[in-house]
Amino acid sequence: MSGVPLIDLKAQYAGLRDELRAAVDGVLESQRFILGPEVEALEEEIADYCGAGHAIGVSSGTDALLVALMALDVGPGDEVVTTPFSFFATAGVVVRLGARPVFVDIDARTFNLDPAGLAAAITPRTKVIMPVHLFGQTADMDPILATAERAGVPVVEDAAQAIGADYRGRQAGTLGRLGCFSFFPTKNLGGFGDGGMVITDDAELAARVRRLRTHGFASQYDTSEVGGNFRLDALQAAVLRVKLRHLEGWHEARRRNAERYRRLFAEAGLSRDADGGGPLRPPVEAGHGRHIYHQFVILTERRKQLRAHLANKQIGSAVYYPVPLHLQGCFADLGHARGSFPVAEAAADRVLALPIYPELDEDAQRRVCDALRSFYRV
Ligand SMILES: *Cc1c(COP(=O)(O)O)cnc(C)c1O
Repeated sequence: MSGVPLIDLKAQYAGLRDELRAAVDGVLESQRFILGPEVEALEEEIADYCGAGHAIGVSSGTDALLVALMALDVGPGDEVVTTPFSFFATAGVVVRLGARPVFVDIDARTFNLDPAGLAAAITPRTKVIMPVHLFGQTADMDPILATAERAGVPVVEDAAQAIGADYRGRQAGTLGRLGCFSFFPTKNLGGFGDGGMVITDDAELAARVRRLRTHGFASQYDTSEVGGNFRLDALQAAVLRVKLRHLEGWHEARRRNAERYRRLFAEAGLSRDADGGGPLRPPVEAGHGRHIYHQFVILTERRKQLRAHLANKQIGSAVYYPVPLHLQGCFADLGHARGSFPVAEAAADRVLALPIYPELDEDAQRRVCDALRSFYRV
């Protein structure tokens, strides 16, 4: 019996080889590598796909977050309210700007920032609220936006895992003042290297992000403020333009796979529902929009033993994220201890991501399910 990898980028590449090579060839023939027509075309296509007024290609998802916060003047003395259960960059960019991340615990069902705790975290120093749309499902944005509005504070969406997800019919990334995407190779839309995008409906903010992306140049060698080199390159843009044409199909394939796991788990007595039942809790769809299943994350006890069992059967799995942000060593001076954000801590101890990539077929999903059954002896 063959194994099942957590993700199989070679399978995706095999289906697109000719298209991708032609796109890369086009850039090589043009010898234009930084920004230029490919990047501009991708920006237009992403703006169209999301229904956003402006899109600015940048060097990574991390830099998208960084430059979005810079465009909102986040700096020393400011606070940015966000979730403790995310990829490191969500809080890293805040600290890099000299500001302080203020964490709000998560919703146990969706792993996203729990709006119930948000109002209490707002202070006169709050500069931005930054929800994360974790694993491909948006945070519950209406109450978050309402709290932000009352506080008079802009929202920046960390939509690095959620391009194409929606919330009550509105695309992830268009719900706040600025939205940030990552094109890291393993994201639902992934390049052949690092890349990212900032989207916004605000023309002035878009212009500022554009300037900040190239050192803060207002025009050549007329520098309005200190930015950085956060540019997207043409090779990434050319690759991403090809892949963008397939993105909807991939999202739907991931959703089909998620449904299939749910059915297989239920049939096998593996899933735990409201009445208790099996040993696993499959991902919960909050019902407020399309989940694009960047990751299919179950909750389980005995995770360490389960992972070893799966590895033994050559089934890929991963833990996103084993250490919540408030317990990272580099944020020790924020003064949080274990117990500060108990829901995030409980999730960090129990989450496990299983293979969900679009090319995964039913046969492979049955092998994953069989491996889970043999571990739990159901
Ligand atoms: C991937 C990711 C980022 C960072 O994106 P990079 O392109 O890797 O810099 C930020 N936030 C979240 C939630 C992510 O998943």
